[in-house]
Amino acid sequence: MSILVLGGTAEARALCAELSQRGLPTIASLAGVTTLRTRYPVPLRVGGFGGAEGLATWLRCQKVTAVIDATHPFAAKMPWHAASAAKQIGTPRLRLLRTAWPPRQGWIIVPDLVAAADTLPVGAHAFLSTGRTEVAAFAARGDVRFTLRSIEPPGDLPPHIASVVARPPFTVDAEVETLTRLEITHLVSKNSGGKEQAKLEAAARLGLPVVMISRPPQPDGPSAAKVADAVAWAVKTVDI
Ligand code: NAP
Repeated sequence: MSILVLGGTAEARALCAELSQRGLPTIASLAGVTTLRTRYPVPLRVGGFGGAEGLATWLRCQKVTAVIDATHPFAAKMPWHAASAAKQIGTPRLRLLRTAWPPRQGWIIVPDLVAAADTLPVGAHAFLSTGRTEVAAFAARGDVRFTLRSIEPPGDLPPHIASVVARPPFTVDAEVETLTRLEITHLVSKNSGGKEQAKLEAAARLGLPVVMISRPPQPDGPSAAKVADAVAWAVKTVDI
C-alpha cells in the first residue's frame, strides 16, 4: 500500500514529513514547473500523468491506496483529474486546501485574472503577485503599468510589464519599502491563503487598494484545511 501526495505547496511537504514519520509509505508528485525544487522527505516523482486517465492508470499500477491532493488552491486542473481518477478506480481521495484569507476593507474582489485586469484604472501601477505564468490577462492593458514579482524569471514580457525576481518569505517592512519605492498604486493577488500575508499587511498600512482574485471551484468530496487533519484521514483510511 502507498499514499500519493500531489504536491507543489508547503503543506504537501509538511504532510509528507508527517506521513513518513508515522511509517506510512508515501510518494510525492510534482508537476515539474519550477527549476528550484524543494527537497521532499519521501520518494518523489516529477511531471504530469497525462490527464485523469493517465493518473488512474498510474494509481492502479503503483497500487496506491489513498490520494491526498495537496496542490495549490489555484491549481485549476489537477484537483479535477485527481477526483475523476480516484472515482474511476475506487481509491479514497482527500483535498488538502488551506483556508482562504477572509475579506478585508480595501479589497476589490474579482472572480478571475481577466476581471482583475479589467478593474484597474487607466494610469495605475499594479504590483502583480499572481505568478510568472499568468501575465497574459494583463498584456492587453497597455494603459496600465505592471511590476510582476515571481520566484523564477518570467521570460519575455511586454514593455509595460516590469519584472522583479524574489523568493518569499518577505517581512511587512520589506513589502512596505518595495511598494513605496516602486510607487505602486494597486496590489493584485490571488486568494491563496496561508502565512504569506506580509504584502496584504503592507498594502493595508499604505492604504493601497488590493485586487483580490477568488479561488477557482473545487471538486466535491472530503477535504481538510490542516495538515494534521489530513494525517488523521490517511491513518484512518489506510487502516493501520
Ligand atoms: P494545474 O492547472 O492544476 O495543472 C496543470 C497540469 O500539471 C495538470 O493537468 C497535470 O498534468 C500537471 N500537474 C499539476 N500538479 C501536479 C502534480 N502535483 N503532480 C504531477 N502533475 C501535476 O496546476 P498549475 O496551476 O499549472 O500548477 C502546477 C503546479 O504548481 C501544481 O502542482 C500546483 O500545486 C503548483 N502551484 C500552483 C500555483 C498556482 O497559482 N496555480 C501556485 C503555487 C504552486 P497532467 O494532466 O499531465 O497529469
